[in-house]
Amino acid sequence: MQQQTLAIIKPDGVARNLIGEIIGRIEAHGLRIQAMKMIHLSKTQAEAFYAVHRERPFFQSLTDFMSEGPVVSMILSGENAIQVWRDLMGATDPVKAAPGTIRRDFGQSIERNTTHGSDGQETAAFETAYFFSQIESVN
Ligand code: GDP
Repeated sequence: MQQQTLAIIKPDGVARNLIGEIIGRIEAHGLRIQAMKMIHLSKTQAEAFYAVHRERPFFQSLTDFMSEGPVVSMILSGENAIQVWRDLMGATDPVKAAPGTIRRDFGQSIERNTTHGSDGQETAAFETAYFFSQIESVN
């Protein structure tokens, strides 16, 4: 199934000059970049993006982290793009992520895990619309 998903290179990835490395892996795995921009989220914008995690104990820390510096957000598309991108990222906790995945190779902790990817079709629709207007995405 052709899908779209939202990918984010988190502040720890941008700060360590990993943008090119991560985009290289995305392209090497056949995903297409349909939209891309660098932005510095405010704390309020990070809270709205992660609203589903509002009750989790790490919500304050996560939204502080996500607003500490710029991120690169992208809409990726391709066959089964949601799962393909999650497989490329690896498990949430870098120490549990499979060898060769982005989070295993670059993640610093369960929080500072370098990339984000939508976890399902509904989430992908919300998240791509949160970051991009229709005119910012190519067909
Ligand atoms: P994901 O879909 O793999 O990104 O994982 P989740 O949706 O469960 O969590 C969202 C983000 O919150 C993760 O990517 C981490 O940055 C952060 N996070 C998840 N679990 C923890 C945790 O136990 N502690 C902390 N500090 N951050 C966490």
